[in-house]
Amino acid sequence: MRLSTMLGKTTRQVPAEADTISHQLMLKTGMIYQVATGIYAYLPLGWRAINKVCQVIRNELDIIGGQELSMSVLQPMEIWRKTGRDTAFGDNLFTLKDRRDREFCLGPTHEELITTIVASNVRSYRDLPLLLYQIQTKFRDEPRPRGGLIRVREFDMMDLYSFDADEESLDKSYNSLVQAYKHIYACCGLSTTMVEADSGAIGGKDSHEFMLPLSTGEDEIIFCSECGYSANVEKAESTKLKLRKEQTLPLQEIATPGKKTIEEVADFFKVSKEHTIKTLVYSADDEIILVVIRGDLDINEIKLKNSLKCHNLRLASDEETIAQGFIVGAISPVGISGIKVISDDSITSGNNYIAGANKAEYHFKNVNYPRDFHADTILDIAAVKAGHKCPKCGEKLQSQKGIEVGHTFKLGTVFSEKLDAKYLDKDGTRKPILMGCYGIGIGRLLAAIIEQNHDDKGIIWPINIAPFQVHLCALTITDQQVQKAAEELYQRLIVAGLDVLYDDRQESAGIKFNDADLLGMPVRLTISPRTVKANQIELKWRSSDKIHLIAPDDIAKQLEVLTEG
Ligand SMILES: [Zn+2]
Repeated sequence: MRLSTMLGKTTRQVPAEADTISHQLMLKTGMIYQVATGIYAYLPLGWRAINKVCQVIRNELDIIGGQELSMSVLQPMEIWRKTGRDTAFGDNLFTLKDRRDREFCLGPTHEELITTIVASNVRSYRDLPLLLYQIQTKFRDEPRPRGGLIRVREFDMMDLYSFDADEESLDKSYNSLVQAYKHIYACCGLSTTMVEADSGAIGGKDSHEFMLPLSTGEDEIIFCSECGYSANVEKAESTKLKLRKEQTLPLQEIATPGKKTIEEVADFFKVSKEHTIKTLVYSADDEIILVVIRGDLDINEIKLKNSLKCHNLRLASDEETIAQGFIVGAISPVGISGIKVISDDSITSGNNYIAGANKAEYHFKNVNYPRDFHADTILDIAAVKAGHKCPKCGEKLQSQKGIEVGHTFKLGTVFSEKLDAKYLDKDGTRKPILMGCYGIGIGRLLAAIIEQNHDDKGIIWPINIAPFQVHLCALTITDQQVQKAAEELYQRLIVAGLDVLYDDRQESAGIKFNDADLLGMPVRLTISPRTVKANQIELKWRSSDKIHLIAPDDIAKQLEVLTEG
C-alpha cells in the first residue's frame, strides 16, 4: 500500500483522552477512529493488524480441531430468559424489539445460542466432543468504557465453546485450549500469566484468566513467587492469621465515647485490629443484610456477591442502616434477629472480640461466636492483599496490576440443563452435555500487543501481527532514479509475497524515519540518491538501531525470516 493514499494520518500530538500507551499509539498512528464512547472504527492500518491477530488465532484453534462457524448477532431474548442471564447481565445487555414487538438482544456472548444450536444437532456420544468457535462482534453496554480498545461497548471476540460427554473429555478439551492460548500469545509477542479466576456472571466451575502485567491495568493479580500460586484478586485466597484461643470471658458493655472506626476502637481497647469484629450493612438485591468480618480484614464484594448469588450488591446508605434500627459506628451482629448475617470464616479463629453494641457510644468486649451471635453462612469472603500469606505455601503474597487478555471456563452442565442439550450415552440414557467456554477479545489483545511491544518512538510490531512486514522509504522521491528504484523494489517485494507499506510521499527523511518508527513495521528499507548510486539498499530492523547496506539481489534472503512464520 502507498502511504500517500492510505486513510489515517500519523500525528505527533498525544490525544488528551488517551490514558494508556496503546490508546495513544493507536490514535497517533491513525489505526482507529472513535465513533462514540467505547465504540471505535478500525482504519485500514488497524484493520490489517486485527486480521493478522485473527489469523494467528484461527491457525492455533484449527490445529486442536476447532470448527469455525458464525452465529447471529441478534439473539431472541427468550433463550436468555431460560438461563436467567437476562437479569444477570442486566443493563449491560443492548436490547431491542422488532416490528412485531418480539424482543432481541445484541449478543454480548453466545452460550445460549450455541447450546440451542448444539441441542438440535447432537444426538449421541458419537457426535462428541466438539470445539466450535467464531470471531464476531459483541455488544456490552459497559458502564465505564476506558483505555481505548481495552474496555469498549462494541468489540470483536473469539468465542469458543467445547461440548463433551464426560469430565475426562472436558478436562482434555480445556487443556488443549490452554495450550492453544499459550501458543497464540507467544505468536503475538506477549508474555502472559495464567491465573485462577472468578467465574462472574457466566457461572460455572473452574475458570482461568490470562493476564498481562500492566501498571495501568484495571485487574489485580495476587501471586506467590515461591510456589507459583496466582489468582485474580476477585478470586484470590490466603491463609488468614490464626489467633490463639483464650479462655472465654463474659460479655461486657463498655462506654466508648466518640470511637467509631475499627482503628479508634482498637486503640481505645489497646488491642490490635484482629481482635475486633467489623460489621457492615449491605443491600443485596434490595434485601438488607449484615456482613461480619474480623477487623484486620476487608470484604471482597465479588466473593460476597457470588455467595449470595445476587445481581446487585452495594453498601447500604446511612438512611437504610438507621431505618433497620442500627446505630452507625456501633453496629454488630450481637443480639440481632430477623436479618440475614453472612460472616467471613476469620471470626471462628479467635475469641473475646471487641464489637459494636448496637447502642450509641458503646461497644461490647469479649464477644464470642457462636455464644453471642448467629451467622446464617460462614465462608471466605475476605479481600486478599499483598503481604497476606499464600494459601498453598504460606509465603508472603505479592500483587501486580494487569489486564485480562483471555479467559477459559469449565461451565459443566449449567447451560445444557437449562436449554436441554442432551446426548444419548452408550448405556442408552440421555445425559446433559458438559460444556466449556473460552474467549479472547481481539481489540484488547491488539492493545495488549502494543502495550508490551513499543518504545518511546512508537510501536515495535511482532512479525506475525505487523499490518505490513516491510516499510519502504523513498528519500528525495523527486529524483527520477530514486523513484524508479523504489517502484521496482516495491513491486518485487509484493511479488515475493510480502506486505509492504511504501512511503512515496514528498516528505523529508526526518519525517519519514519518524513515521517509520512510530508505525513500527518489523523492517525498514530505504532508497535514496546515495544508495542508488552505490547500488545498495539500506535495511534497518525496527527492534535495532543498526543500519545494514545490502545489495539489491540479497534483499530476498535478508527478508526470509518475515515469511517463515
Ligand atoms: Zn506460595
